Amino acid sequence: MRAARLHEYDETLSRTEVLRLEEVPEPKIEEPDDVIVRIGGAGLCRSDLHIIEGSLRAQLNTPLPITLGHENAGWVDAVGEMVRTVKPGDPVIVHLVVTDGVCAACRRGEDMHCVSLKFPGIDTDGGFAEFLRVKERSVLKLPAGLEPKDAAPYADAGLTSYRAARRAAAILRPGMTAVVIGFGGLGHVGAQILRALCAARIVIVDVSSAALELAS
Ligand SMILES: [Zn+2]
Repeated sequence: MRAARLHEYDETLSRTEVLRLEEVPEPKIEEPDDVIVRIGGAGLCRSDLHIIEGSLRAQLNTPLPITLGHENAGWVDAVGEMVRTVKPGDPVIVHLVVTDGVCAACRRGEDMHCVSLKFPGIDTDGGFAEFLRVKERSVLKLPAGLEPKDAAPYADAGLTSYRAARRAAAILRPGMTAVVIGFGGLGHVGAQILRALCAARIVIVDVSSAALELAS
């Protein structure tokens, strides 16, 4: 299959072809709870740019070369024999991380602290490819009418905004005002989630006239 892979850092983000499109082996079902997703959309996150420029190399320890892409959605292509909740052809969004579901952190609902956590696109090959292998518990079936390419950024940008908006909504009461600073990739999602979660007045602050126009 084809995959867009990062071979070396580009500290000035000036190269036009920093990701190399190349042939790599297709992932196969290896364990009974594996799910192979045919990628329908993979978002480009600001974190991808930080990985490319190498500024996160100390924190993330990303091995090179790597297939980037951690905001993924697509269609189920194949499933392991234990998989029950999705079947080939189902449209799915892929959670950021691959986790075991049985460690203490997973059982507390703190999946990001899973002892066997794998982070496709960060520490293992991600979704800038035709196929991606994850686990059944990493995929969530999309409702009818929602295309994978439209849903993919919610795997990270949406989830990040949702967490902040949910925490704010818990303390916002009708008559109070929430200020969203920045109406970019996260802010425009966060403001809409806030509106759905609470009755507070929402004020958007941004220096970009395009962003303010979008907000209005
Ligand atoms: Zn776990």
